[in-house]
Amino acid sequence: MKRNLSENEVLKKMKYGCNCRNTCLNSFKLGEMKTAISLYGHKNHKEKTRWLLNLFEMFYNPDTDKLHLRIRGVTVCPGAFCSFYGITEYKFYVCLNMVKKNNFIVIHGNSSREYRQYQSDLCSTYLEVYLTTFGEQQPDSDEVHLPHTCIKIDLYDLFKLQCTENIVPHISTFLKVWKEKFP
Ligand SMILES: [Zn+2]
Repeated sequence: MKRNLSENEVLKKMKYGCNCRNTCLNSFKLGEMKTAISLYGHKNHKEKTRWLLNLFEMFYNPDTDKLHLRIRGVTVCPGAFCSFYGITEYKFYVCLNMVKKNNFIVIHGNSSREYRQYQSDLCSTYLEVYLTTFGEQQPDSDEVHLPHTCIKIDLYDLFKLQCTENIVPHISTFLKVWKEKFP
């Protein structure tokens, strides 16, 4: 269970959570954010996913491929949205990816082909997020490389920890996606 955040921790999140110029979190009260974080934090993985998917369904416009995030009708940036509820970056991207691909049925494993696709998507989303967070921009090209210290089996272990819905792709799937994405 998530422990309750102190006033200071919430203040810090409010200051640094929003990473755009609109200071998105200014229109909310400290207490509101505390309540939101605790409500979200007490859901289990499945509930969190479902809850986020429902919201993204409303916020996502497939015609423009844009996600219009709102809290109480106020437009906010992804950073603000995540810190308001205490959503991890990983969870955010996985759910967004699922909405974009309209992948709901897949969760229940109705078709084995779709299920396999879903597993590869999970791996590839994870690797993408990992790369954007920890990747090293190469000075002489546009390429972004994984840090040299990064070991495949360690990364797979990390990945397993973050898997939701009790679906944990096998390491062979993980390595296959890795090979395709980062040849
Ligand atoms: Zn913002």
